[in-house]
Amino acid sequence: MGWSARCCDDARSADPSDLRMNPNDPPWHADTRVLHDDAALADDAAVVAPIHYSATFRARDAAEFADMATRARHPAYYTRYGNPVHERVAAILAGLEGTETALLTASGMGAISTTVLALVSAGDHVVAQTRHYMSTAKLFDEVLPRFGVEATLVEQSDIDALRAAIRPNTRLIMVETPANPTLVLTDLAAVAALAREHGITTICDNTFASPLNQQPHRLGIDVVVHSATKILGGHHDLTAGAVCCSNALAERIWRMHITLGSVLSPMDAWLLLRGLRTLAVRVERINANALELARWLERQPQVEKVHYPGLESHPQHALAMKQMKGGGPVIAFAVKGGFEATGRFVGALQLATHAVSLGGVESLIVHTAAMWAGTMNEAQMKAAGIPPNFVRFSVGLEHADDLKQDLARALALANAEQT
Ligand code: PLP
Repeated sequence: MGWSARCCDDARSADPSDLRMNPNDPPWHADTRVLHDDAALADDAAVVAPIHYSATFRARDAAEFADMATRARHPAYYTRYGNPVHERVAAILAGLEGTETALLTASGMGAISTTVLALVSAGDHVVAQTRHYMSTAKLFDEVLPRFGVEATLVEQSDIDALRAAIRPNTRLIMVETPANPTLVLTDLAAVAALAREHGITTICDNTFASPLNQQPHRLGIDVVVHSATKILGGHHDLTAGAVCCSNALAERIWRMHITLGSVLSPMDAWLLLRGLRTLAVRVERINANALELARWLERQPQVEKVHYPGLESHPQHALAMKQMKGGGPVIAFAVKGGFEATGRFVGALQLATHAVSLGGVESLIVHTAAMWAGTMNEAQMKAAGIPPNFVRFSVGLEHADDLKQDLARALALANAEQT
């Protein structure tokens, strides 16, 4: 069992209409949609979208001003409320995720916090995962309880545990799959069905997969959130977030958004738009590189364990094949020799840059235990499934052979100094 080299394209051969936003849309593929889904919003002769670097927009008369000031999500009234560049990016993201609309924020955490705070009130209960991106976990552990919202954290691979956690006042189920940094998966269709039975709203953080590899809304999830800082932007040069959902939910979330003010600058929105133009080719190449490297790493004697959804050895590989079209950029692995050897290995790499974040054109690597040592104690790291010799490797667009050569040299060095 495995993905084809051009795994993002599976939908095309299986069912050409699969990527349509609605039955009346032309059957374009994602490769084409990232270039043309915002065409209807172009407002001048420029081939490339202009940057609307303006905090505020002119009304031609009183009637137009009244419309701008009162219409929810007006794209050209005041940039905290919306901006024409946001609107173009949103059109592409909604098309890719198969949602009615999308909303942009200043960061992935802006998207997550704004969405969660818009959908819960004091007295409500939330179900989330034991393994989430660290700041998302803090939202459930530390922030929501201060406002009278209780969260139950469950092991995400255990759908029965999730079912058992639901209470009469559960309003929200939040999932993240693959989860940062352990690449544990959540069965999205099962979560969506369970939530629907109980009238609960679902949110999925789709950052690690991207809409090219996984479309949670098509599996029944209500709201899809992204750190667009990662794969969507793709160049490690911007910070942004996105919320993809129905018009009704977007309006609710937008009302919280204009209060919290996690506003994406027009410049970063424009960089995101430019990054999206190449999303399909980047993801296709990154998927292929990552799968090849994960398989190669599994064969290296200095590597203890490799986690990647595309590997047959991943405990949830069958689920990965069912709900994903490719594995995405992140491989997690454990280096033999413990914390010290792992530090030496990361320090010896020449191509993979020692830096946080993921999903961009350059490969990045972090020694996870060292990165989170300041914010998590040993017990918290153990609970999060992070051993001291764990690294998170975000595979970029370098040639796979060059990356292997770099990894092999660093693994040998880490090992040589250890003996
Ligand atoms: N969600 C996931 C899975 C992440 O990995 C991150 C950041 O690493 C975030 C959300 C937060 O994104 P941002 O840094 O854009 O706020």
